[in-house]
Amino acid sequence: MLKNLCQKMFGRSLWVYHANSGGCNGCDIEVLNVLTPYYDVERFGIKLVGSPRHADVMLCQGPALRATARALRTAYEAMPAPKLVFAIGGCACGGGIWHDTYAVLGPVEKVIPVNFYIPGCPPRPEAIIYGVAVAVGLVDKKVAPVEFKELEMPIPRYHPSDLRGKDEMVVYEKMDKI
Ligand code: SF4
Repeated sequence: MLKNLCQKMFGRSLWVYHANSGGCNGCDIEVLNVLTPYYDVERFGIKLVGSPRHADVMLCQGPALRATARALRTAYEAMPAPKLVFAIGGCACGGGIWHDTYAVLGPVEKVIPVNFYIPGCPPRPEAIIYGVAVAVGLVDKKVAPVEFKELEMPIPRYHPSDLRGKDEMVVYEKMDKI
């Protein structure tokens, strides 16, 4: 449904605003790489703009910081509707390795609504282009959600009395029963 809505709303071109709320610049480099002539996303109608007031899409990198949350929110509110937000990179999607540090509020979705997530640390430029193209309906999605279940391993209780032998010749007696 979101795909149909995107095709209807952003059928001709997509103007993107690039926002880093506190990342390490790894994701920025990949996003800017996408926007340079090497990958040339302008051929798909995707264009970088310098102001959120002209943007259809915000590309967010980095986690939401206490120091930048208000500026991020202000930039989001300045964008005209309809608008989309992409969280790019592990930090923007889930807080990344900084998620529980004192300066970090968490993923950007704690500050602004996020429509699409492109994980990776950092995601490859091809992954970013593919994610945006899937979102706006330029290509079809080739993956389906998978539910992971934690495996239950038959791990026996370890106790020193279950050991026999000495030094390097120690043997775990219950090993045969595993
Ligand atoms: S996801 Fe990785 S590369 Fe991107 S901002 Fe976070 S730490 Fe840096």
